[in-house]
Amino acid sequence: PETQEITEGLAKIKTLGSVFYNPVQEFNRDLSIVVLNTFAKDYKGDSQTVWEAGHKYDDGISILEALSATGLRSIRYAKEVKGVKEIIANDISIKAVEDIERNICDNGVEDLVVASHDDATMLMYKNRKERRFDAIDLDPYGCPSIFLDSAVQTIKEGGLLLVTATDMAVLAGNSPETCYSKYGAISLRMKACHEMALRILLQCIEAHANRYGRYIAPLLSLSADFYVRVFMRVFTSPKKCKQTLSKLSMVHHCTGCGSYVLQPLGVIKTNEKTKQMKYGLPTRGFPNICEHCDHPFHVGGPVWNAPLHSPEFLAKLLTEIPENLATFKRIQGVLSVINEELIDAPLYYTLEQLSGTLHVETPSMGAIRSAILNAGFQVSYTHMNKTSIKTNAPSELLWDVMRAW
Ligand code: SAM
Repeated sequence: PETQEITEGLAKIKTLGSVFYNPVQEFNRDLSIVVLNTFAKDYKGDSQTVWEAGHKYDDGISILEALSATGLRSIRYAKEVKGVKEIIANDISIKAVEDIERNICDNGVEDLVVASHDDATMLMYKNRKERRFDAIDLDPYGCPSIFLDSAVQTIKEGGLLLVTATDMAVLAGNSPETCYSKYGAISLRMKACHEMALRILLQCIEAHANRYGRYIAPLLSLSADFYVRVFMRVFTSPKKCKQTLSKLSMVHHCTGCGSYVLQPLGVIKTNEKTKQMKYGLPTRGFPNICEHCDHPFHVGGPVWNAPLHSPEFLAKLLTEIPENLATFKRIQGVLSVINEELIDAPLYYTLEQLSGTLHVETPSMGAIRSAILNAGFQVSYTHMNKTSIKTNAPSELLWDVMRAW
């Protein structure tokens, strides 16, 4: 196979052609560099808050890139993330490891990056007790779920887990059975499928973490091109694991009008006398038929129904995007939209879907937004779909707004 030479960021690498390299993922790598820089700068391992700025991590962070292919990502992390003390670039393929070793030397990062030839799961299991990592990056072909059990154990307390999933067809509802077997949740074929994908992936990682008394705190979640990417911290607290049920919901999606309702798996109850919070199971039944159009629901999930990102972390990220990154503009654009997204309004409607259901003309984004705001509710865009709205308004109101249009 032909040798390919690639320059991306501060790295110049060569690959023999049989080793995986995808130029479209430059955005993914650039964004990960921004996240790691912000994380390494303020990382406070023992803090239980989702994000606390202002802490200087003197020692530098350790990173495991468990599925490294050419080593490009690891080499870029070594050259472009400040405050890194060591990176392991691992791959199961010997050809890939030969590429990684050569690229490490060509880029002069021998003091920071070490190549490793192992099955990623084995490498993580071997290290889960004595040598945990501050950050673990999982960037596999397709589905990451087989790597999660070992990854959630091998990340340090408060460490950063970065996960890509590219099997969007499965996550976005084309194959609900496969989604259940891989991710432990039923996906739905609905307009908000990209956000469903993110919420299914986060639910899956949380389930793996909970088995070891750990839980996740998402810093940033996004859908881009043909994949989803999530960044989260992992903490230990068996007590907090009990709260997971209240962070999960089933999604009821109407087969007629396309409206959706989320039903939490657990509810938080406060004892009036002791003021103690208790996590109980919901007792309310759920209607079988949609009240708006009398059609039955499809039921998917469970999905993560807690915030997809940390507003504090995002605010920090927005001030720290290096202008020399090739995808600077795109990162800035996407992060700005995420920053505006309503955090407590899961999923979204597309305008075409709303107007299609009622057979009315599609209103302008401005018109529908001001109608919702005038009715006293919140509304935002989402980075996942250009013509969509997120809102905390009940669907009755949306239908009224559309009919009045
Ligand atoms: N992270 C890379 C980047 O940003 O350019 C791309 C990684 S590529 C999508 C996936 C890699 O995972 C392939 O090189 C493949 O050989 C490797 N791989 C697949 N299964 C693995 C396993 N069980 N352990 C380690 N590596 C594995």
